[in-house]
Amino acid sequence: MDDAVVRKLPWCRGRVEEALLSVRNMHIEYQAERGQVKAVRGVDFDIVPGENLSLIGESGSGKTTLGLGLIRLLVKTATIRQGQIVYRRDGVERDVLAMDEDEVRHFRWQECAMVFQSALSAFNPVLRIRDQMHETVKAHRPTTRSEVDNIARSLLTRVQLEPDRVLRSYPHELSGGMRQRVLIAMSLLLNPPIVILDEPTTALDILTQRTIIDLLRALQNDMQFAMMFISHDLSLAAELADHVATMYAGRIVEYGTVNQIFYEPRHPYTLGLIKAVPTVTGGFEDLTSIAGTPPDLIDLPTGCKFHIRCPFGTEKCAREEPDLIHIGPEHAAACYHWEEVERQSDVPWDEIRPARGGDA
Ligand code: ADP
Ligand code: MG
Repeated sequence: MDDAVVRKLPWCRGRVEEALLSVRNMHIEYQAERGQVKAVRGVDFDIVPGENLSLIGESGSGKTTLGLGLIRLLVKTATIRQGQIVYRRDGVERDVLAMDEDEVRHFRWQECAMVFQSALSAFNPVLRIRDQMHETVKAHRPTTRSEVDNIARSLLTRVQLEPDRVLRSYPHELSGGMRQRVLIAMSLLLNPPIVILDEPTTALDILTQRTIIDLLRALQNDMQFAMMFISHDLSLAAELADHVATMYAGRIVEYGTVNQIFYEPRHPYTLGLIKAVPTVTGGFEDLTSIAGTPPDLIDLPTGCKFHIRCPFGTEKCAREEPDLIHIGPEHAAACYHWEEVERQSDVPWDEIRPARGGDA
């Protein structure tokens, strides 16, 4: 590609050339009646082969938009304003945003597959599962029915479904949990190096959620694909993740290893999310949620987009938006007060006060 040089992110381990996917300065907007919805604002990250990056954040923070942007499956009213997506495989770098329609279609299943939350709408209602799987493979490379049958049987068995029964079913004949497992199997038909899973278990009951998380872990172990696991559920993300990125109002506000994010969060928003998770022992008395609501993405406030809800917020936060900066090995945060967050991480959320003269 022409513009092969991608800035290294100091908090990401290894050399940038080892990353499977490098995303830089992504900005995505929707055209709405009231104006431009700034859904993704300057997102940077790398995914290395086999890694699991979990993307967490409240509803409306831009997670789905980012996922769709990566595979260029955005609706017509959405525009990628700026940014770079570099995909690397076998030593070859490709610029995803410069791909033509054919190349993108190939990229979408074969290199980077996506599993959505709404399982039923992802299927063609009038095709049996066997035919959907056959069509999917056939759209990407020459194949035979028996080849696809073999791959499909093997994948369906791995997601603990009965292949014969499922292959002859129509989508509506399967339960929600079964459909979600079929979708996961379908996403892996072409053995892609990356799979994006957008809230893959949100519509399911807790037991089924667990099963699917266990299956994903086993599949990832066997097949070694990298995963971007999108969720608003921290406990699910924690079970799979190597790294976690917290998203707020269209930006990654903290990036770290799973342990850093859960035990040493340095962005007040991540801290708030973690304090809002009921612990097994703590029960619901311990449940505090972050007061207030996310900002209007059409008419964004100045400064840090979290400052209005933030117990650490100062005048500087209201004025200038902090960059995501490197704060330790594999750890980055977009907060002027991250060191204070460290000092007050044991204080209950509603008793946190900014340090005096905290307006550094
Ligand atoms: P998340 O997946 O984190 O819940 P989304 O990416 O779905 O967030 O949404 C990010 C923002 O973009 C939200 O404010 C949402 O209302 C807005 N948005 C999503 N889809 C559209 C659309 N088609 N048109 C206009 N705004 C949209
Ligand atoms: Mg979403």
